[in-house]
Amino acid sequence: MSTITTTTSREWRLIRRPGDAPSEADVELIEATLDAPGAGEVLVRNQVMSVEPYMWGRMAGTAEYVEPYPVGAAMAGRAVGVVEQSGEPSLPVGATVLHDAGWREAAVLPARDVRAVPAGDRPPSTWLGALGIPGFTAYVGLLDIARCRPGDTVFVSAAAGAVGSTVAQLAKASGCTVIGSAGSAEKVRFLTEDLGLDAAFDYHDGPVRTALAGALERAGESAIDVYFDNVGGEQLESAIRRMRDYGRITLCGAISTYGGRVPGPGNLLLAIWRRLRLEGFIATDHAARQPEFERVMSGWLASGRIRNVETVRTGGIATAFNAFLGLLDGSDVGKTVVALDR
Ligand code: NDP
Repeated sequence: MSTITTTTSREWRLIRRPGDAPSEADVELIEATLDAPGAGEVLVRNQVMSVEPYMWGRMAGTAEYVEPYPVGAAMAGRAVGVVEQSGEPSLPVGATVLHDAGWREAAVLPARDVRAVPAGDRPPSTWLGALGIPGFTAYVGLLDIARCRPGDTVFVSAAAGAVGSTVAQLAKASGCTVIGSAGSAEKVRFLTEDLGLDAAFDYHDGPVRTALAGALERAGESAIDVYFDNVGGEQLESAIRRMRDYGRITLCGAISTYGGRVPGPGNLLLAIWRRLRLEGFIATDHAARQPEFERVMSGWLASGRIRNVETVRTGGIATAFNAFLGLLDGSDVGKTVVALDR
């Protein structure tokens, strides 16, 4: 074990629950002192951390399926780091590890709360993107929940985001016609030109139902078999309107409603008439699928079938909360991660 006794680490703490939307006044960046790890513990220095929409629910204490962040304590989230001091022989100094103590520069963690991951063969941020929760969410949501098949017409919202860009690529690679929506002309171009989607639209361009109808026409399709919903609200209602009989809707996220501002779809009667299946899911409930997912996705990443689309925010821990706010504003393409080592 190292002879170093203490180290300092800056961390983001929640100081009050957000009102309508998270703001800088809800958090503070403070410097904490960490003791050296004891037996069975490691001190991890984080290289890269994830910011994710679900953190809004943990800050506000409104998400039913996950513990709220305690007020006055460091927030949590996925991160990849390197073991700097070790009291655990199976996790030597220098090991790359994945864990849930993000939002901070360093943490002392019990060995059971960290997972060693291979280093060197891919950027560590891949474990937060295509090979992490967003990729796993896309895989389970599209293949298991929507039971997507070759030939399906798939519509995915927030298609230029972390989950959405993986869903879009997976559906394309599976032989589907794919339509995506996103929040800017630049993202629409990215979806059609870089990811090769059949059509895409900016949901700010007029009523969504009109924009979706136009995208279906450009893709040479008249109706949707699978809608992968990341946003809820108007896009969900518009998708229901264009579903084919026996269509499947994966309810993955509803980011347009997280502030409680947008009412739900007003046309659920169509779900009965068209025999639709709408199914919500939480990716982490499907842990039994994780080893298969990682094996398959590693192969797809290596072959180039799937790209890990990401925006890396540099500038260290001080930039992390801004990166989170940018994620909610749609500033970034792909998975937003914060580099803590540059
Ligand atoms: P993203 O990387 O997609 O980032 C969120 C994106 O949402 C933004 O980039 C923005 O893109 C879009 N957005 C923000 N506000 C709105 C709005 N009002 N209307 C429409 N789009 C909006 O995040 P993730 O890929 O991590 O998550 C996508 C969704 O999946 C979220 O709803 C999240 O909560 C959910 N999720 C669910 C999981 C589960 O287990 N069920 C697991 C992980 C995520 P744009 O420029 O296009 O507006």
